[in-house]
Amino acid sequence: MQSTKRRPAVVRKLAPLRRIVARWRAAGETIALVPTMGALHAGHLALVRLARRRASRVVVSIFVNPAQFAPTEDFTTYPRTFVADVRALREARADIVWAPTVADMYPDGFAVQVVPAGPAAVGLEDAARPHFFAGVATVVAKLLIQCQPDIAVFGEKDYQQLRVVTVMARDLDLPVKIVGAPTVREADGLAMASRNAYLSPDERAVAPVLYRVLKLCAEKIAAGRPVAAILAEGRETLERAGFRLDYLEVRDAETLRLPTKGRPLRLLAAATLGRTRLIDNVVVP
Ligand code: AMP
Repeated sequence: MQSTKRRPAVVRKLAPLRRIVARWRAAGETIALVPTMGALHAGHLALVRLARRRASRVVVSIFVNPAQFAPTEDFTTYPRTFVADVRALREARADIVWAPTVADMYPDGFAVQVVPAGPAAVGLEDAARPHFFAGVATVVAKLLIQCQPDIAVFGEKDYQQLRVVTVMARDLDLPVKIVGAPTVREADGLAMASRNAYLSPDERAVAPVLYRVLKLCAEKIAAGRPVAAILAEGRETLERAGFRLDYLEVRDAETLRLPTKGRPLRLLAAATLGRTRLIDNVVVP
């Protein structure tokens, strides 16, 4: 461990956060924000390292956002590993951990929502989780306003979220550049995710099939074979492996609408193994 690495300051209140950000701005520093829900893994830390290369100051927010969980989902049991997270962020050289409380983010009487359309209303994650993107857009808008970053880094792992946040920043004229970062995977191809901790050993052994099917389907689509048949085959393979499939779809990489000729494509999937919902996506080369 290098002796120059300093533990990031943990900031829990908006007033000190604003003071620090103002001081940085006055000194001509550039600021990157990496929003997370904690339970950090190597995927998150790759985002922090990318942020470190692109700005002179890095804020990592850790906030498990109740607004993006449905009542049936895992808000209360979502993994929380704050002490280990701060330790990992020291190694990744974050300057600040912004960790507001739920009561400060959503005080009594909180009455504003950012409700995105466009890529948030295309029948992918939004079909399975109808309130999800309003919860995400609202909290990301708040985090951007609180931290005033020049750039904010999001993972391609949550590809629809990356598109939704990009369009939100553009449409609200937020003075921030949204930067996408490649998906970090386990050695067997499984996309790293905090919820992978829920997988039983048997499920963990099956989980990489999702990425394998995505890669195979993407290659076949790129080779010009009929898309409907490829997707039907991919869906069948996943279901036979034990996944309950929400979707396996090929879409316009930018709008996430149905593909039209000559436009870049993205292949996206979401499926549940036991009680763990996995999402993943790949480029169609
Ligand atoms: P989360 O804590 O799950 O809300 O994720 C915070 C950020 O990390 C989001 O921008 C995610 O897309 C990103 N992220 C999560 N997992 C990965 C991964 N395996 N590779 C790259 N980015 C990721």
